[in-house]
Amino acid sequence: MGSEELSARILSGNFCYAVLCALLMMLCACTREPPLHHEQFLAFGTLIEITLYGVDDAAAQQANAAIEQDFQRMNRDWHAWHSSALTALNARLAHGQTATVDAALLDLITRARKLSLASDSLFDPALGRLFGMWGFQSDEPTGPPPPEQKIKNLLSVLPTMADLHITADTVRSDNPQLSLDFGAVAKGYAAQLAIEHLQRLGVHNAIVAASGDIHVLGMHGARPWHIGIRHPRAPGIIASVDLKSGESISTSGDYERYFTFQGKRYHHLLDPRTGYPAQGTAAVTVIAADGATADAAATALFVAGARDWPRIARAMGVDQVMRIDQQGKVQMTPAMAARLHFEIDPAPVSAVIHLP
Ligand code: ADP
Ligand code: MG
Repeated sequence: MGSEELSARILSGNFCYAVLCALLMMLCACTREPPLHHEQFLAFGTLIEITLYGVDDAAAQQANAAIEQDFQRMNRDWHAWHSSALTALNARLAHGQTATVDAALLDLITRARKLSLASDSLFDPALGRLFGMWGFQSDEPTGPPPPEQKIKNLLSVLPTMADLHITADTVRSDNPQLSLDFGAVAKGYAAQLAIEHLQRLGVHNAIVAASGDIHVLGMHGARPWHIGIRHPRAPGIIASVDLKSGESISTSGDYERYFTFQGKRYHHLLDPRTGYPAQGTAAVTVIAADGATADAAATALFVAGARDWPRIARAMGVDQVMRIDQQGKVQMTPAMAARLHFEIDPAPVSAVIHLP
């Protein structure tokens, strides 16, 4: 990723978060509260930001170094297109071979399988070949879209996580077209793992943000951690919410990765029912106790669209959802409506949707 693109992503994807952190830091300076320690680095193709509250400099430095090391290891091992443990696994699975998998990757595969089956395979991390065909398994997607016939051929043998057979330390696939890509779940999962590691290191108050996937621990002093949700069509935030300790928030938006080809925009959230970018949704935000669940559900509910998202949310066990459609209209579950504050005036047209 070039440095210009990186700063663009910092300004867009994490702008609100950065502004919030800056404000919090200024407050600290005035009231002599324990310092905030802020660290950022690149992993999973995006900016990872760690904020620690109430630890001394030496402890913060040690904790940040440990977390960065974790992220770099996961990034290396689970990379879907640079040579990694995952690409080696995919090669074996494509040949119908049984592969031995380390405990960390096996845990991710097992969780992703469960979430995928609950989502009716709308979150389908077995579709690495489809993401690759569209050019989203690359650092800079450029298009063109793949030939229609190629998409049809793959969908005719639709690889799903049901094709995968998992034992205590091995994995095997029935479908040679299956290729694992955890781009839609790894950041939320990793953010939670990072918070759990920080806890083991004696940190009690922290935020780990992997672009749109954030997990929090404790509080910011007397105040809860306050999170801004990016407006999908304008600079700045559309809404904000206070998170409780141990909660995750994930947002999937059509503005994160896309290419333009012959005047048409193609984004990176693909609908396994059609093989094309999912239509109708601009962004989905999910709050859940589990990071992998929040991340996978944000993707699945984005793909599900206006009619199906409440049913899929119920099946995936999430009840705090906000969906923003292509016209800017908002749908929210009652549990999300009860805690979310709009930050734009006038507030968008919004409807409360009860899950089935
Ligand atoms: P982001 O990575 O922008 O936070 P997501 O968490 O929604 O957004 O993940 C998007 C990535 O997941 C895509 O780049 C692609 O690799 C993969 N992906 C796209 N569509 C799906 C899908 N229907 N199911 C699972 N993974 C998907
Ligand atoms: Mg996701």
